[in-house]
Amino acid sequence: MRLKKMELVGFKSFGEKSVIAFPPGISAIVGPNGCGKSNIVDALRWAMGEMSVKQLRGKSMEDIIFAGANGRPPMNLAEVSLTLSNENGTAPEAFKHFSEIMLTRRLYRSGESLYMINRQPCRLKDIHNIFLGSGMGAKSYAVIQQGNIGAITDAGPEERRFFIEEAAGVTRYKQRKKETLRKLDATHQNLLRVRDIVSEVE
Ligand code: ATP
Repeated sequence: MRLKKMELVGFKSFGEKSVIAFPPGISAIVGPNGCGKSNIVDALRWAMGEMSVKQLRGKSMEDIIFAGANGRPPMNLAEVSLTLSNENGTAPEAFKHFSEIMLTRRLYRSGESLYMINRQPCRLKDIHNIFLGSGMGAKSYAVIQQGNIGAITDAGPEERRFFIEEAAGVTRYKQRKKETLRKLDATHQNLLRVRDIVSEVE
């Protein structure tokens, strides 16, 4: 999968709808201090499901909504859409037949939020699942912010292992194993309850 396009509206300094294309190859975003370069990286992280306000350089999630500037009034919602190209067919099984996948995250000032895949509402977990094992994602090493290189070099063994497992594509299976073990445990508890009921009836 490759990031092809980002559409933002109401996100941080992007009061007006903006479309940023990422053609194949290397893209560089240049501009004077404070023009919104890092906000684009924040938008990428946010749309990939980042939940940590600190990682988005804010105090509360509401800070990501356009607060008004240059005579433009504040907005009531922020929305970022990422178009991922699946030309190399590396999307997860459920999306293999799509040539493009569009992920959308929306947040209203009231706190209400919405996630969509190809314009169909979905769970945050579905957004995370798209990136699991791909090397991309809100928690991956693919997005390194200013001053964050130190965080990787200073990472402890556990954290460093996470980066390596993500790069090797193991995380997706570890997550599924965790979910399966949880279901097995719930089934075991149900069986115990059924046995108790059976012995009571007998
Ligand atoms: P530098 O080169 O100094 O790192 P930058 O281009 O990365 O700068 P950003 O940090 O992306 O700049 O953008 C900072 C600008 O975004 C500031 O002018 C700030 O006022 C504006 N901004 C941040 N959040 C909001 C918001 N919610 N509403 C309106 N403007 C915002």
